[in-house]
Amino acid sequence: MHRRKPRKSGIRTWADGARPVVWGWILAFILLAARAGFAADAGESWRALVASGQLVDVRKYDPTIVVEMRYATAQNCAGTAVYPPDFPCLTRPDTAVRLRLVQQMLQRWGYRLKIWDAYRPVEAQHILYQHWAGKGFVANPEEGPGSLHSWGLAVDATMVDLLGKEVSMPSGFDAFIPEADAIYKGKDTKTAFHLHLLQSAMGEAGFMGLRTEWWHFAVKDWASHAPLKVPGEARTEAARPTDAPNLITAPGEPTAAASGQPGATRPR
Ligand SMILES: [Zn+2]
Repeated sequence: MHRRKPRKSGIRTWADGARPVVWGWILAFILLAARAGFAADAGESWRALVASGQLVDVRKYDPTIVVEMRYATAQNCAGTAVYPPDFPCLTRPDTAVRLRLVQQMLQRWGYRLKIWDAYRPVEAQHILYQHWAGKGFVANPEEGPGSLHSWGLAVDATMVDLLGKEVSMPSGFDAFIPEADAIYKGKDTKTAFHLHLLQSAMGEAGFMGLRTEWWHFAVKDWASHAPLKVPGEARTEAARPTDAPNLITAPGEPTAAASGQPGATRPR
């Protein structure tokens, strides 16, 4: 007896019409996995740097310091998260000690320190550069030197009141506008006071400011620190930080940025 061959129904089956859809999903999954893997690589680096004692969690030195890692959210200049969601606030141990000192000074005035960014993995710098390539705001990690953030020696910070509310400052975080200047030219006396208090406390604790970003601070003696060395890897985080020539020791002090030296707009 002859078995009848199944008739083609004309309905799109997995084998024909749906196949491109499935391949589309597979491709999307591969792309997402690659992106997640990128972040995971950055995560592994910081874990190794913490395990080797080169970086510490600032909150372990002073749990009263407020931390909101903006690069773990979309609220930053890239408009997307470039850190894993649980990325901690990390610095060198001596930097964390200074931040604790800043916190003690601010608390006497009824304020607290709030940190938006600290140690920044080179992988994250790559992502930021991709977003800002050619616009001059972000140093190209492929061109050698990096940021003091990648040395664990810089933080982006503001102040909050005792209720945890951010106080008025000249501009928002990552606002690349003239108002972001470390020398406040506005007329609001409260904002002027807030910025002066933050800069004074940071200066007292051993930090320098950055002319083009009021929220950026790096340790004055950065040059006495060796670059971070990821255990088991040949590379160091950065040979020489690009933001070093732009640092100012006190508000109003002339800077390399003001004198128009190369790299003046590439502090990040
Ligand atoms: Zn910064």
